[in-house]
Amino acid sequence: MLRIELVTGDITVQRVDAIVNAAYSSLLGGGGVDGAIHAAGGPEILAECRRLRATALPGGLPTGEAVATTAGRLHARWVIHTVGPVWPDEGAEADARRRLLAAAYRNSIGLAASLGAASVALPAVSAGVYGWPATDAARVALSTAADAPAPGLIRFVLFSPAMRDVFAEAAAALGIDE
Ligand code: ADP
Repeated sequence: MLRIELVTGDITVQRVDAIVNAAYSSLLGGGGVDGAIHAAGGPEILAECRRLRATALPGGLPTGEAVATTAGRLHARWVIHTVGPVWPDEGAEADARRRLLAAAYRNSIGLAASLGAASVALPAVSAGVYGWPATDAARVALSTAADAPAPGLIRFVLFSPAMRDVFAEAAAALGIDE
C-alpha cells in the first residue's frame, strides 16, 4: 500500500532508495535543492550527468521528464533528476504548465518504481526559484503522488515548517492520509 509522508527537513540526509532532484534542464548543477544534492552527494553525480549530456541528452532534460543517476555519497541508490516548469507570468499558460509539473512528479515516481525503489523522497519541485505558489504546488504534488504507480513510500521533504503546513493542508483538502 502507498504511504505518503510529509516531513520538514533536508532532502540530502534522507535514507530512502531514491531522492528526487529539482534540476535544471542542463543537468549541470545549480542552486537550491540541486546545489545541495550535488554538494552532499559528491562529484560522481555531476560526472554521470555530464555523461548523459554527452550521450542520451545532448539538448538537456526536457521539462516534465526524469532521468536517474547514481546517488554518490547520499544514503540512497539513485538520484532522479527532473525539471519542473517555471511559474507562468500569463494566467493562460497555467494549465499547460501545471500538466508539466504533474508530469515531473509522475515521471520521477514512475522511474523510481521501475528501478525497483521501495521509497522515494521528493522536494517541492518548482516552488523555489521557479516561483510556483506553494498551495498550488502542493496540490499538484500530492494529487499526482496519490495516483502514481508507486513505490511503497513517498516522502515529501519540505525545507520549512511553513511549506510542510501548506502540504498538510493540501493533503487534508484532497482527502490524502499522511
Ligand atoms: P526550483 O528551481 O524547481 O524552484 P529550488 O531548488 O529553487 O527548485 O526549490 C525547490 C524547493 O526545494 C523549495 O521549496 C526550496 O525551499 C526547497 N529546498 C532547497 N534546498 C532543499 C533541501 N536541501 N532539502 C529539501 N528541500 C530544499
